Amino acid sequence: MEASRSEAIVLGAMDYRESDRIVTLFTLQHGKVRGVAKGAKRSMRRFGGALDPFARLSVELVVREGLSSIRGADIVSLYPRIRADLRKIGLAGYAVEVAERFLPDGAPYPRLFRLLTAYLEHLEHGEGEPSARRFFEANLLNILGYRLALEQCGACGAELPPDAPRRCGPAGVVLCARCGRVGTIIGPETVRLLGLCLATGRFGAVAFPPAALREAGELLDGAIAAHLTRPLNSLAFLRQIEADLASVPIIP
Ligand SMILES: [Zn+2]
Repeated sequence: MEASRSEAIVLGAMDYRESDRIVTLFTLQHGKVRGVAKGAKRSMRRFGGALDPFARLSVELVVREGLSSIRGADIVSLYPRIRADLRKIGLAGYAVEVAERFLPDGAPYPRLFRLLTAYLEHLEHGEGEPSARRFFEANLLNILGYRLALEQCGACGAELPPDAPRRCGPAGVVLCARCGRVGTIIGPETVRLLGLCLATGRFGAVAFPPAALREAGELLDGAIAAHLTRPLNSLAFLRQIEADLASVPIIP
């Protein structure tokens, strides 16, 4: 079989046999692909740091069912500014783990590929603000067909006009005032901004104020967890970093 070039982001890698690594890639052309990088443990010359999580590559690939073969990899970007900042590492690691867990094998998702690369670029060149993470998640769910239903009660199906009272139910489901007696109240600003996330393709275009950020976060965390069979490893890491940073005293 002939090798072909593909744009790719490394979602994860592990050692395999004596000198090889198995790498999970999100490729633009083939979607999620697991492949063997022969000699990757020994030959720094062939792969270097290219197989680190969230590295952006141009790979030479022989795609097969099961394990593909990674013949070579050129680095497009290792995102050095992300790697110099622990919180950004947490955010990028979280983004690739979410993609890895949600993507089926071997089905191309070019819109999700562009979303993930745009998020990594935004993290590399921006502040890594929490709104961008929520923007990423809202769009990821939408692309995968799990769009948050904000205009309808998830229990009784009642239509919810923009200013109708809503609450966050289990699994990030939006509930009307009759079905949702407990749970976080979801304000109209949160609904509006989440809608805006799907209407614009640009990171940084939507900034959630603190209350809306908390509400959107509860909906999105709930919805993401509901579609996964086990918790995300990177989420615990991300929460720990954010808790540590929040506890650092600010010296004027
Ligand atoms: Zn209802």
